[in-house]
Amino acid sequence: MKKRQFKTESKRVLDLMINSIYTNREIFLRELISNASDAIDKLYYISLTDKTVKVNKEDLKIRIDFDKDKREITISDNGCGMTEEELENNLGIIAESGSLHFKEENKDQNDVNVIGQFGVGFYSAFMVSRKVRVETKSYKEDKAFVWESEGIDGYTITNSDRKETGTSITLYLKEDTDDDNYSDFLTEYKLRSIIKKYSDYIRYPIIMEVENSRKKEDSDEYETYKELTTINSMIPLWKKDKKEIKNDEYNNFYNDQFFDYSEPLKVLHFNMEGSINYTALLYIPSHAPYNFYTKEYEKGLKLYTNGVLIMDKCSDLLPDYFSFVRGVIDTEDLPLNISRETLQDDKNLKAIAKSIESKIKKELLALLKDDREKYEEFYKAFGMQLKFGIYNDYGMHKDQLIDLVMFASSENKKLTTLEEYKSRMKEGQGEIYYACGETLDKIDLLPQVAAVKDKFEILYLTEYVDEFTLKTLGEYDGKKFVNVSSEKIDLSSEEEKKEIEKVNTDNKELLTFMKEVLDNAVVNVKFTNKLKDHPVCLTSEGDVSVEMEKVINAMPTDEKITAKTVLEINKNHKIYDKLVDLYSNDKDELKKYTKIIYYEARLIEGLPIDNPTEMSNLMCDIMANK
Ligand code: ADP
Repeated sequence: MKKRQFKTESKRVLDLMINSIYTNREIFLRELISNASDAIDKLYYISLTDKTVKVNKEDLKIRIDFDKDKREITISDNGCGMTEEELENNLGIIAESGSLHFKEENKDQNDVNVIGQFGVGFYSAFMVSRKVRVETKSYKEDKAFVWESEGIDGYTITNSDRKETGTSITLYLKEDTDDDNYSDFLTEYKLRSIIKKYSDYIRYPIIMEVENSRKKEDSDEYETYKELTTINSMIPLWKKDKKEIKNDEYNNFYNDQFFDYSEPLKVLHFNMEGSINYTALLYIPSHAPYNFYTKEYEKGLKLYTNGVLIMDKCSDLLPDYFSFVRGVIDTEDLPLNISRETLQDDKNLKAIAKSIESKIKKELLALLKDDREKYEEFYKAFGMQLKFGIYNDYGMHKDQLIDLVMFASSENKKLTTLEEYKSRMKEGQGEIYYACGETLDKIDLLPQVAAVKDKFEILYLTEYVDEFTLKTLGEYDGKKFVNVSSEKIDLSSEEEKKEIEKVNTDNKELLTFMKEVLDNAVVNVKFTNKLKDHPVCLTSEGDVSVEMEKVINAMPTDEKITAKTVLEINKNHKIYDKLVDLYSNDKDELKKYTKIIYYEARLIEGLPIDNPTEMSNLMCDIMANK
C-alpha cells in the first residue's frame, strides 16, 4: 500500500499540532463536531434541491463513542461524507489561505496565535492522537474509503465496505506522560463537559452512551445501565434569551465559529421584528484577522433560514466598509430552498442588509460616545477599512462614515473625530488644516507645520489612504480641508503679504536663475515669510500633493504622477542675504547653493534624491572652501 505525502505546508501545520504546547487541547472535539455538523448541513441543504438525495431530518445526528481500554474516541456523523478525491483534497492539504499565512509569518512560532488564527480544524486531532482513522462514504457514490495517518510520515487511503453515508473519525489517543494526561478524555464526564462547553448549540443531536442507574424491579437495589443520550441542548445561541446567556457562551461561540481565539471587542445580539424579521448575533473582532487587508479575506455573515444553514459567508449582508463584522443572521423571511444565485437579488435580503448596516453604524457611534478607549482599539484595527469606505465608489458612502473616522491631532497627538476638531476651531479659522508624513514625529518637525501649528490645530495624517480620504470628503460641515504643504496656504497679514510680494518682485532675476539651475524640477522658486526658523520647504501647487505623489508612484502600476512643487525659501533666514550676495558676485557658487537647498527641501519631505553623490560632492566643496 502506497503511502501518500502531505503537502509541504500541511506537514508544517501537522508538526505544529503534534508537538503543540497549546494548553487548550480539548478543542479538538469541538473542531471535529463542528466539521460533522457542517457535513450534515451540507447533505441536508443538498437534499432540499436535489430530489435524488433523500434525507430524513430526524435521523441526522452526531455520535461520540469511546473505549477506555483501547484508548479510542470515535466521532461519527451521517452527513455528506467524502469521495476519494475529496479525502485527498480536504485532509491532505491544509486550506490555501491558512498555508499562505503560515508560510509568510509564522516560521518558528508554536503558540496559540498560530493555532487560533487559521482554523486548522481537522488537524487538531493530532494534538491528542498518535493515529487518526477516517472512514467515510460520500452521498455521491457507493464506494467507501478509509484514510489513515500517524502524522508527518503521510497517510494511506484504502477501500472500505462501509454502507452508510457519512463519516466516522477514530482517534487513537497518545500515551500519557509525566506532563501530559490524555486519559482524561476517555471518561464520560470529561467528554460530556467538553461537548456542553463548546458544542451545546450544535443543531443536531450529539449522542453518547451514558451510564445511568435505576431501581431494580421488585427490589430496593439499584442497577446501572447504559443509554444513548443527547448531550447538547441544540438551541442555537442566537435563539436563546439574551438574559440567560453568559459572556463566556458568546465568546466560545465566536471562537468556535470564526477562528479567532481572542475575545471579541463587542457583541451585538438583537431581534428585528416588523416589516422584516430576523435575529442577529454579530461580533466586532478586537483585532484584524491576519489576511484582513488582503484580497484573500472574505466578508460575510452566516445565513440561516428557519434553522437551516443557507450560506456560510453571505457577502451581500455586509457593505465592504463593515466587512470586519462576523456573525449569524437567522430569518424566516427567505424561502428555505432559495438558490445561492437568486439570493443576491432577493428583496428581503436587501432589506435585512440595510437594517444590519444601520444597526452596526449606530452601535459604533454609541461605542465612540460611551467607551472611547474601546472605540480607539476598534479604530486601530479597522479604521483603515472605514477610510477606504469613504474614498471607494467615488465617495458614494462618505456621509455614512464621516462621523466614524478619526485622525491624529497636533494638539495632543491623540485621535480626534472631525466633529471634535470642528468644535475646537478658533474664531476666524475658515479651514481644517492637515499635514502628511510617515510618523507623527516626522510631521511635527516639518517646516510648514511649524508655521501653522502655533495658530491652528492640524490633523496629522500618517496612513497612505488618509489624504485621499480627506480629498474625497472635500469638507466637513462647510469647512474645507487644506494641506499645510499647499503653496496657497498663507496665514500672514495683508501687510506681511505685500512686503513679501515686493521681496519676490525685487529678486525676480535671482529666482528665475535658481529655477533654471534646477532645470525646472520645480514650477516656482520664491521667498516666503511663513517659515519661522526653518530655511526652506517644498510645497505643492494644484491638486496633487507631494504625499500623493509618493503614494501613487509606490503603487505597482505604470501610472506615475509628479506633484507641481514650489521651492520656498525663508526670507528671514540668513541664507537669504547669502543668496542675494552670490547672485551679484559669484554665480557659479550660487548654482551649488541652489542645488543643495533643493536637495534639502526634498529630504525634509521624505522624497528621494536623484543624485546623492552630487549632493555630497557639492557640500564638501562648499565646506572645503569655507
Ligand atoms: P475546515 O473545516 O475549516 O474547512 P478542516 O481541516 O477541519 O477545515 O476540514 C477540511 C475539510 O475536510 C472540510 O472543509 C470538509 O470539506 C472536510 N471534512 C472534514 N470533516 C468532515 C466530515 N466529518 N464529513 C465530511 N467532510 C469533512
